[in-house]
Amino acid sequence: MKKDLFSLQNKVAVVTGGNRGIGKAVAGCLADAGADIVLLDLADPSETAAEIAREYGIRTCGLVCDVTDPQQVQACLEKGAETMGTLDLLFNNAGICIHTNCLKVSPEEWRKVMNVNVSGMFFVAQAFARWLLDHHKTGNIVNTASMSAQKVLIPQQMTSYNASKAAVWQMTRSLAIELAESGIRVNSIAPGYICTEMTSTVPEELQKTWIRSIPFKRMADPSELAGAVIYLLSDASTYTTGACINIDGGITCL
Ligand code: NDP
Repeated sequence: MKKDLFSLQNKVAVVTGGNRGIGKAVAGCLADAGADIVLLDLADPSETAAEIAREYGIRTCGLVCDVTDPQQVQACLEKGAETMGTLDLLFNNAGICIHTNCLKVSPEEWRKVMNVNVSGMFFVAQAFARWLLDHHKTGNIVNTASMSAQKVLIPQQMTSYNASKAAVWQMTRSLAIELAESGIRVNSIAPGYICTEMTSTVPEELQKTWIRSIPFKRMADPSELAGAVIYLLSDASTYTTGACINIDGGITCL
């Protein structure tokens, strides 16, 4: 190989939901691939950002940002770009899940899931693409969808989450087409059951049921998603847009 196709050196990557879980683990791996990192999260991600900078010897900054607030999102991207010099890549990952039966889910719960997982993800992608175009740049976006975009998993009851992730999948494909001629690629990943704070709060019995249903018979470490994200954000995937990579131990084959 003439060059390291998977290198993210000289790139600045924004990661939402970057203070913990998948966002934090993948941000560390993007840093390991050479990227400087802007972490955005509801809780102040400054300490996490400093930890990643120390470990990988790259530059980081951490900003408090509610992805459901488009003004805040725009201001944070501008602040991130000012601090780091530019922006190139986005791992659009912040999301929430509420387990409530469809007959019991309240309008507030439904709106909250849609607001973060669909509207929030769109506002970040939109502001990021606008920033790139305003600065005459190309770039790449990876959205975190879920296997729940394609499959209704039992026994958990989460119509709101499943619907929101199906929306992320189709949003990704729509953005990929609308932004194709601007040189902005948009792809998504569809994780299976991943060990994070989001899944650790469910009862142990439910986790055991999940594990029995997974062909690999285990949940994943969040770092196991990083290879696909690096591929989609790097020059290894220059002809790929609108794709969704399943990373689920085989579950969506069933
Ligand atoms: P976590 O709950 O561990 O982390 C999510 C992060 O997103 C938290 O730091 C949270 O902040 C942040 N966040 C939530 N709401 C907002 C908001 N409005 N603005 C900014 N940040 C916000 O979840 P995971 O790491 O497990 O999940 C990350 C993504 O992966 C989500 O989109 C999720 O749907 C998806 N996913 C997860 C799977 C899993 O098995 N874990 C499987 C498939 C997809 P705070 O803690 O302060 O609320």
